[in-house]
Amino acid sequence: MTTILTIANQKGGVGKTTTAINLAAALAQRKKKTLLIDLDPQANSTIAFFDALEVKASMFDVLSDHHAELASVLRPTRYEMLVVAPAKLSLAKLEQQLAGQFDAQFKLKDALAPIYREYDYVVVDTPPSLGILTVNALVAATHLLVPIQAAYFAIEGTDDLLETYERIRARPNPALKVLGVVITLFDKRTNISRDTHEQIRSVFGAVLFRTRISKNVRLEESPAYKETIMTFAPKSPGAMEYRKLALEVIQRVEEDGIARHTEDAA
Ligand code: ADP
Ligand code: MG
Repeated sequence: MTTILTIANQKGGVGKTTTAINLAAALAQRKKKTLLIDLDPQANSTIAFFDALEVKASMFDVLSDHHAELASVLRPTRYEMLVVAPAKLSLAKLEQQLAGQFDAQFKLKDALAPIYREYDYVVVDTPPSLGILTVNALVAATHLLVPIQAAYFAIEGTDDLLETYERIRARPNPALKVLGVVITLFDKRTNISRDTHEQIRSVFGAVLFRTRISKNVRLEESPAYKETIMTFAPKSPGAMEYRKLALEVIQRVEEDGIARHTEDAA
């Protein structure tokens, strides 16, 4: 069983990319074969691993009329168990190109079909919008993971995301589930962080992951060195928290797998 985990929140700067790259690395270190797909034209996940100039074929070629095979754009990383499907700025053109195509929402799902079974986890990083790229990521996914920044007004806007989620569940992807909500950029010294944590907990309840990602400058620095936190500062709080989050993710996925199995049997 492959878990296709879309990381989404239409707000920018909430830790989507930081979560995508470090969670993917933590899963790979746990010996889960992982594919990280960058669906953001800003290509921050891609640049965290590779020089932008060395990236030739990208997700644009896969999702556009070029019809490149997803397998042909994959790039290995220093982690044996992690490969990356890179993005380039060209991805921004896709919205226009796909407009009016009847299968516009299904491009990523179709591209994944031949290869997803080779992976335990596919992690998809998305842009800060609910446009066609994020919709593709939700249509292809088995699960949604929502990072929410511990800041005032953090919850505003999640309504739109959850509405999109329900719309996609209603038709193209009824099996989609919310795996969890993770609080990011948490600073235990501030009232803002504590207040928003309480607020997020009261809104999302058990969906909230127990692990919180604290504000940690190492997490900000590591992409500049083309490293994830797992190799850049493996003993830092950021590394420990993303490893804990990976464990929670694996646990929830396994519980969900058992639940689905039981439902199927019933
Ligand atoms: P998004 O992908 O949602 O736009 P990013 O993951 O790029 O958000 O994070 C926005 C900025 O905040 C980046 O500069 C990133 O390095 C930084 N950042 C994210 N999470 C943390 C954290 N836990 N501690 C410190 N800086 C962080
Ligand atoms: Mg990002």
